Amino acid sequence: MTLSAHDDTAAAMAAAGLVPGQSPSPVRLPAASVFKTRAARLRQLAEGHSLGDWLGFVATLSDAQQQRIDAAPGLTPGASPEQQWQGDLQALLALLQDQVPEPARPTLAALQHADAASLSALAERIVGGTMEADDMILAPFVMAALQVAWTRHAAGLDAASVAAPATAHSCPVCGSAPVAGVIHVGNESGGLRYLHCGLCHTAWHHVRATCVACGEGKEVSYRALDEREDGARAEACDTCRNYLKLLLAEKVPGAPGLDPIADDMATLALDILVSEEGYQRIGINPFLLLGE
Ligand SMILES: [Zn+2]
Ligand SMILES: [Zn+2]
Repeated sequence: MTLSAHDDTAAAMAAAGLVPGQSPSPVRLPAASVFKTRAARLRQLAEGHSLGDWLGFVATLSDAQQQRIDAAPGLTPGASPEQQWQGDLQALLALLQDQVPEPARPTLAALQHADAASLSALAERIVGGTMEADDMILAPFVMAALQVAWTRHAAGLDAASVAAPATAHSCPVCGSAPVAGVIHVGNESGGLRYLHCGLCHTAWHHVRATCVACGEGKEVSYRALDEREDGARAEACDTCRNYLKLLLAEKVPGAPGLDPIADDMATLALDILVSEEGYQRIGINPFLLLGE
């Protein structure tokens, strides 16, 4: 290894909050600028993409999320994300009023007039992966509000107080399944893997080459859309038939702009490939246009 390559590795590790020679930090809490990063990444990915219009729409949503979290960064004392997200939803809907295309306006109006109990039930179905057909069109707005409330909560925590065992398969802050894994530094055998929460945006370290869903490593294999080394891949497990998408942070064009939710959306074709083989996604990304 040349000195400059070593320096690059050290710089990449520092950017990932890691110190060479030390154990990786088990938990990385989100920055409050996560939505700004996502909007930029989505617009970059949208250029020339077959889903460009959709990626652009979610970028508009991300802008509104950033505006909301900037305007209301602090938690109301004693209030949980569950108690706050509906206020965030109404604020987001107001921000988006003049920005969404005409056909989306009735959706906004429906959410503006929905009562608290039906919104709570809707959120439970979205987060719990039990969406009904009519929920699909509402899900991006509801998820956007839930993300604001949970990210505000996670960003305000002390990372040292959040416990995450090295084999944790759900988010140590909110309990969600990971939306994707990101290999942060090094080559394929040496890089560290962080799992990323799509709700509160916490990331946690997880050992590699074992299935995140069942913990087995013997029946894990990888799928990719093409031969590119830097492309997204799916880690598929034949013990439990689940899969997790893996993104390579250091090789994705435009890094460190990689955003797990944005890059997950832009690699929908990989989900189609592995779901045709009968594997189930581990975590949910409601911005991903996966037909049920
Ligand atoms: Zn979480
Ligand atoms: Zn498994």
